[in-house]
Amino acid sequence: MSNTSFSTLNLRTELTENLSTLGYQDMTPIQTQSLPPVLEGRDVIAQAKTGSGKTAAFGLGLLNNLEVKRFRVQALVLCPTRELVDQVAVEIRRLTRAIHNIKVLTLCGGTAFGPQLGSLEHGAHIIVGTPGRVEEHLRKGSLQTADISCFVLDEADRMLDMGFEETLNKIVAKLPTKRQTLLFSATYPDTIESMAKRVLNKPVMVRVDASH
Ligand code: ADP
Ligand code: MG
Repeated sequence: MSNTSFSTLNLRTELTENLSTLGYQDMTPIQTQSLPPVLEGRDVIAQAKTGSGKTAAFGLGLLNNLEVKRFRVQALVLCPTRELVDQVAVEIRRLTRAIHNIKVLTLCGGTAFGPQLGSLEHGAHIIVGTPGRVEEHLRKGSLQTADISCFVLDEADRMLDMGFEETLNKIVAKLPTKRQTLLFSATYPDTIESMAKRVLNKPVMVRVDASH
């Protein structure tokens, strides 16, 4: 077994089995570096270029810690655009395939609000959404945060570029302070650093340079 094999991680059996069904044998470099601290429950800042497998790096972390029998929103993932939300939801659903009854719900703007209220009433374990629409659900009380133990900022650099900082601050203010926060980004400008200082707690920083 190579030291980049997923089997080195002690993931729950269904996840490990599903990964081999999906043809994922070895971790990508960013997965090798970020998954151990993510699985320990640490806050993590991970920087690596697009296409390096960042979704599974946080996806496996939140899925491994999820209590399937507790039908409450336990993880909130924010992405800058609807397309990215859909891609992340597809990848998380692929990773959950062998664990039955895990419900992943997407919440994006540009989609009717009413049906989302109905879906939220039915419940979900994991929410993947865009900042604007998620904040609207929080403000209106249709999304409960009390059981959220894992908060993910995906493509954090793009979210800040798109002017979401204020919205992100409002969302963070409504989350439990005792939580795991994971920040994934392709770049690490100063704006991210100052936000990370406010939102993450003693984060582990991992970085895979484009030249590697
Ligand atoms: P990023 O978010 O860094 O841009 P993604 O998470 O979208 O990258 O992953 C890019 C592609 O690589 C996806 O199609 C995903 O299914 C695939 N992938 C991720 N991790 C692995 C792995 N360990 N082995 C094989 N394929 C992987
Ligand atoms: Mg990504």
